[in-house]
Amino acid sequence: MTKRIAVGRLFHESHGYARPTISESITVVRGDRLIREARGNGTTFGGIVDALTERCDVELLPISDSMIAPSGLIDHGFYLDQRRFWEEQVKGLRPDALIIDLHGAMGTTELDDVEGDFLDHLRSVAGESVVIGVGLDLHANITPSMLSAGDICIACKQNPHNDYYDTGKRVVELVLEVLAGRLHPVYTLAKARMIAPGKLETHLGPLKQLHARARVLEQSTPAIVDISLYNAYRFGDFTDMGQAAVLLSNGRYPQAKEIVYKFAQEFWERRDEFNDDLLTIEEALDAAAERPKRLPKALADLGDRTLAGAPGDSTLILQAAMNYKRPLKGAMTVHDPETVAQAHTSSVGATLAMRLGGKLTPQFEPFDVEGVVKVINRKDVKLIGPNFGGESAAMGDTALVEIDNRFQVIATSKPGFISDPNVFESHGVHIRNQDFVVVKSQYHFNANFNGLATSLYLASPGLAYYLPGVFDKKRARVWPDVDVEADPILPPQVFARQGRFNYRLKIN
Ligand SMILES: [Zn+2]
Repeated sequence: MTKRIAVGRLFHESHGYARPTISESITVVRGDRLIREARGNGTTFGGIVDALTERCDVELLPISDSMIAPSGLIDHGFYLDQRRFWEEQVKGLRPDALIIDLHGAMGTTELDDVEGDFLDHLRSVAGESVVIGVGLDLHANITPSMLSAGDICIACKQNPHNDYYDTGKRVVELVLEVLAGRLHPVYTLAKARMIAPGKLETHLGPLKQLHARARVLEQSTPAIVDISLYNAYRFGDFTDMGQAAVLLSNGRYPQAKEIVYKFAQEFWERRDEFNDDLLTIEEALDAAAERPKRLPKALADLGDRTLAGAPGDSTLILQAAMNYKRPLKGAMTVHDPETVAQAHTSSVGATLAMRLGGKLTPQFEPFDVEGVVKVINRKDVKLIGPNFGGESAAMGDTALVEIDNRFQVIATSKPGFISDPNVFESHGVHIRNQDFVVVKSQYHFNANFNGLATSLYLASPGLAYYLPGVFDKKRARVWPDVDVEADPILPPQVFARQGRFNYRLKIN
């Protein structure tokens, strides 16, 4: 029998310390266009839509898609409007299942567990019999509300997130198993009250070992369906924040509590290993000066990463490069709507006196500098790399301004996904001709620049590098900001959706 499955996405990683994200800057796609655009794209949502499209026993019902680049807390009114729309759609469509791509670290100006609230509301509208499946980012702040309302809640397993697409396919597979009555999801959650300040790639250090152990357990134990390990988003301020392990079992699995507790305990015991090895801006420019013998350098501006929610308006690397002892050539973006407007009201070839960048991040200043307008652009730029390939770069209108005949500066009107060569190439800036390009990403740009540039990681100032004491946490009680030594691990909790399949569990 044909199953009617509704799909959509509400995806945002909300920086608790950047300026709030206004609703005018958010794109919402609805109707059949949502399905067309998701097909074949490298995200969790692409995997969901492709997996469902392949099946002849599924009718696909599009609801709504908002893929929002990381930035400050979402305007609460915007969120309420979205929630209302989704509730109306679920009421009207009466689907058998609902499959959603959520990041899991969304906050609004009034609410810290947005995904928990969202799923709670959808559950109360959909009723108990509708299967709700969610694909999450592993930087989600996973909460009891999410695990109570959703039937399937699993995270991607890799950082950089090269497995988003497969995560989407896996969520579909598991939702179909629940619909068929073969999977009875039970979740067991444990959290260590700590931030992991750095070393968050899953192919390195402690995370490599933790994930390897999780995969062995999944493969060797029939009752274990999935183990998702979450590195809570460092720049959010969430109640009961921490490094989490969530075990999904088919029915109750008595050893689950001990297993998740051990993962949380290992996070805690190895907390000092979560640190990055970073370069100063000067050291990175020394490496960039090795050209032309070597590949250009992709300088990851960690403090100003738009992919971690910072505004992307730093000019500090540009200023250092202009003052560097040898003449370097480089390309970078600066999130600066005013400079974009200034360029758009002049013409290609005009010289602008700019107050460039530094208007959005509290500790930055605008940089007074002249440049020549080279490109004025109103077209959407698509990302082409394996990471987020097919998605919009979400930069809004842009302008390319050349400074000092050697620096190609792309002013953007939105923060954007500055993690892909096409951000530059689409403006006629060839990576191979540069000594360096600046990216606003720590992980996801790597695969996209593979073979084009060598990655370097900079300890640069801004809102997106975690240092103890810099981010004043009001809700979160986490190491290293707070002393939690007496009680570092939250006791494991079990969640099962009661009522369905006449299948009851005692929830503790
Ligand atoms: Zn992530």
